[in-house]
Order: sequence, then structure tokens, then C-alpha cells
Amino acid sequence: MHVILLGAPGSGKGTQAVTLSKRLAIAHIASGDLFREEQAKGTELGRLAKQYMERGELVPNEVTIKMILGRIGRADCAKGYILDGFPRTMEQGMALDAALAKEGKGGIDRVVYIKVSDGELLTRLGGRWICRAAQHPYHVVNNPPKTAGKCDIDGSALYQRADDSEETARKRLEVYHQQTAPLVQHYKEQGVLTEVDGQQSIEKVALRLASALQ
Ligand code: ADP
Ligand code: AMP
Repeated sequence: MHVILLGAPGSGKGTQAVTLSKRLAIAHIASGDLFREEQAKGTELGRLAKQYMERGELVPNEVTIKMILGRIGRADCAKGYILDGFPRTMEQGMALDAALAKEGKGGIDRVVYIKVSDGELLTRLGGRWICRAAQHPYHVVNNPPKTAGKCDIDGSALYQRADDSEETARKRLEVYHQQTAPLVQHYKEQGVLTEVDGQQSIEKVALRLASALQ
């Protein structure tokens, strides 16, 4: 099963993907998480990505596409995967379609577009904390951890992303509307898009996602 979670930064893709990937027993591939891992490891790719991420801009298509196509070719993706944060441009979407067609593995089964207003997105990004070990997301008000400052799942420390600052978050939303939103129409035309109202509780969004993927 090949699933894409499409939505603006803060729409809840990561939150939903954590539980969904367990339930469907398929890999969760988050492009932003991969770039942050590269940064933590101090690789050349990490250093390159950092320059764009700290400004709230997209990392160039060429390197992003190469990283993701490499990642989905690994053994843990053989049964399928949930893409979170990729594709983010039409060029990335086209490259993914072409790669899947070339491998003859079947195309994208379903794209779930999680729709949330910009005002709500800024509130969510401003209160987001993620864990050091695996980037599990929390929110100070909407989804607090059981123990302050600690991840419920792996116990690692929580921190706020520098690019969740208000200024950079606003820039990321602008980039989303310009470069990523056109993908909604692209997948609608392919007949694989389901729109879900993301401005409901985490549990309700999860139920809607589950029915979209049945
Ligand atoms: P994305 O991966 O799309 O950037 P996240 O899953 O990290 O988004 O969620 C962004 C923030 O919003 C996090 O702090 C998360 O706890 C919170 N959040 C996620 N889903 C909901 C929801 N349905 N209602 C309220 N807050 C949510
Ligand atoms: P995210 O964790 O999804 O919010 O992504 C954080 C940042 O990583 C983005 O603001 C971009 O700079 C970069 N990034 C993540 N995914 C992509 C992508 N598909 N294309 C380009 N840049 C990306």
C-alpha cells in the first residue's frame, strides 16, 4: 500500500502517521525527519538541508527526490509506506509517479489531504514539541505528554524546532500555498484524493483516515 499524507506544516501528518503506520504495519517515511537525522549525523546532505530549513524554504528538488527514492527502495518499504511531507512540489510528485511506474510496483493508492486553516496551523506549530529520539510530536495544550518534557513512547527529551518560530512558520505556510497546494488538484485528477477535515480531535481525524484507507 502506497499512501501519501498531504497537508500544510502543522496539519497533523506526523501525528497521524505514527499510529497509522503501526496499524497498517507499513513504514512511515517523513522527509523532514530524514533531513533532521542527516543534520544530527553531521552529513553533507544535513548541512545543505539546514540552510534551507532554517529559512523555511524547501530543500532543492533534486536532492530531496534522490533521498526519498533511495529510502522507499529499502527492504522495510517492500509492503508499502506512508509518505509524510513528500511530495511537496509538482516536480517531486511527477518524479514519484515516474519512479513507481518504472518499477512496475503500482502507483499511489491513496492521498489523504488533511485540511486545516492557517490560523490553526500557526497555533499548532507555536505549541509543538518533538522528541529527540524519534521526532514524535506533542502539543503543549492539544496533546501534552504524560510527563512534562518527556516522550510517552520512548522517554527521550522533548524540544521545540527552531523553524516552528512564528516568523519561519509563516514563511513555511507561504511556501506551502505556493508550491505544495497545487498537488491537491494533481491527485484529484488522478482520482486518488480524499479530503479530511483536520480541524477535529486527533482521534476523529484518525477515524476519518482509517475509513479513507479501507
Ligand atoms: P505535521 O506533521 O503535519 O507538520 P504534526 O503531526 O507535527 O504536523 O502536528 C502539528 C502540531 O499539532 C503538533 O503539536 C501536534 O501535537 C498537534 N496536532 C496534531 N493533530 C492535531 C489535532 N487534530 N488537533 C489539535 N492539535 C493537533
Ligand atoms: P517538516 O518536518 O515536514 O515540517 O519539514 C521541515 C523542513 O524540511 C521544510 O520546511 C523543508 O525545508 C524541508 N523539507 C521537508 N520535506 C521536504 C520536501 N519534500 N521538499 C523540500 N524540502 C523539504
